[in-house]
Amino acid sequence: MESFPQFDPATPTTSENVENHLFGLSLQQLEKFIERNRLEQYRSRQIWHALYQQRVSSLQEITSLPQSVREGLVHSGYSVGLPQIAQTFVSDDGTERYLIACADGETVETVWMPNGDDGEMGDGSEAANEEESAGCKPRPSTTEAQIPAAQEPIPYRRATICVSSQVGCAVNCQFCLTAKLGMRRNLTAGEIAGQVAAVLNRHQVRIGRDRINLVFMGMGEPFLNYDHFMAAVHLLVEGMGIPESRMTVSTSGILPGIERFATEALRPKLALSLNASNDTIRESMMPITRKWKIEDLLRAMCSIPLRPRERLTFEYVLLGGVNDRMEDARELVALLRRAKLAAKVNLIVWNPGPDIPYRMPSPDDVAAFQKCLIDGGIPAFLRRPRGRDIYAACGQLKRTLE
Ligand code: SAH
Ligand code: SF4
Repeated sequence: MESFPQFDPATPTTSENVENHLFGLSLQQLEKFIERNRLEQYRSRQIWHALYQQRVSSLQEITSLPQSVREGLVHSGYSVGLPQIAQTFVSDDGTERYLIACADGETVETVWMPNGDDGEMGDGSEAANEEESAGCKPRPSTTEAQIPAAQEPIPYRRATICVSSQVGCAVNCQFCLTAKLGMRRNLTAGEIAGQVAAVLNRHQVRIGRDRINLVFMGMGEPFLNYDHFMAAVHLLVEGMGIPESRMTVSTSGILPGIERFATEALRPKLALSLNASNDTIRESMMPITRKWKIEDLLRAMCSIPLRPRERLTFEYVLLGGVNDRMEDARELVALLRRAKLAAKVNLIVWNPGPDIPYRMPSPDDVAAFQKCLIDGGIPAFLRRPRGRDIYAACGQLKRTLE
């Protein structure tokens, strides 16, 4: 009969904490785990290294552990628990959208964008410099991506991964497809960081050699899942080695979240989905404005100590006839100048979706809007739509397979 070391049996899975999964545990949590199971303390670092740097998929791959320990852990019900890519959709422009399966059967969506979507342009980071030196210029008024020939593998000098923070979303922005899902549940830190690990493994990315940017702009509102989101950031930075300056989190404007974020020693860059130049228009698109006003959000953003050259990003989804007029652009310039922030604006042409009663802005209106901001002294960039043909672009992350 085989004999294994005796370990604490793994506890059953809950949606809040998948306790038999090691991926997602912090170093301190791994140390406690090791202590509870009466293993040598240095084993915690070995597991930490295997989980986050090697990104192993199974305990058997942790060859720094003796075979008997690996088998004992498996026998006691433990596993790595890296989220699995259940389905992949590949766009003509090289963008890939994944349906990633969680342990309880819920799925979230994650997007891989080779060569990014120009979202970092002008934000003062290293990632932005690369985009600029790669010859990217703020796009003119065209809303179409430049599409390379299909079938060819898309070479990338850098890639951006768009990560989800919740299954569904409770914020109910009127123009967003994810809102239609409603709120299903928060993702755990392991499920958030795990999306990144699964995608990096698929593309055999080596952190340090390949340039990877992360945007927390997938399904969900990261600041309504604050603790898990920040725990994931720590795993990604301290465990996986992705610099925080290559990460951007986008919030719809959760005031207490922004205030807390301002106090973090380790944090990604921040983007606010502003989307309107006054509370009245914003409230019609984003009912959450009833709770937290633009002025209060801007004041909280002013309290964030910025890194050298760092800029705060304001996302502005252009909806035809709603917020894309010259008077809106002028009001936006006045608002951001008054706020005296190191700001840049990312203009996003609204991606239409079924049963959403808005229309796309005209290319001329988009160009005029961008010019008005630039003439007013506000750096403004047009986000390149990626993967429209596979519903991977902003706000289209709804489970189209349901
Ligand atoms: N919940 C966060 C992050 C996810 S949404 C937030 O709202 O900021 C990421 C970005 O997609 C936001 O700036 C949002 O305004 C934008 N967005 C949502 N639906 C969109 C759509 N249909 N077309 C274009 N952008 C959209
Ligand atoms: Fe949620 Fe962001 Fe969509 Fe608003 S735009 S519903 S906050 S995911």
